[in-house]
Amino acid sequence: MSMSKVVVDQKLCIGCGLCASMLPEVFQMDDSGKSTIKNENGAPLEKIKEIANMCPAKAIKVKK
Ligand code: SF4
Repeated sequence: MSMSKVVVDQKLCIGCGLCASMLPEVFQMDDSGKSTIKNENGAPLEKIKEIANMCPAKAIKVKK
């Protein structure tokens, strides 16, 4: 069972790179050009939520 607080829906991600450039501690781009979670504990959850709100594809989901 996954306990992830932060997930990227790769079906929605358009690979713009914004999340990985803004928060490289948390997100990284994978070989297919989509964002993946590198370390969900790499930044405060509030900061991750800010980036999630900036994602043009609304592909980043942050659980409470
Ligand atoms: S900001 Fe959104 S669309 Fe852009 S790479 Fe990150 S998850 Fe994908």
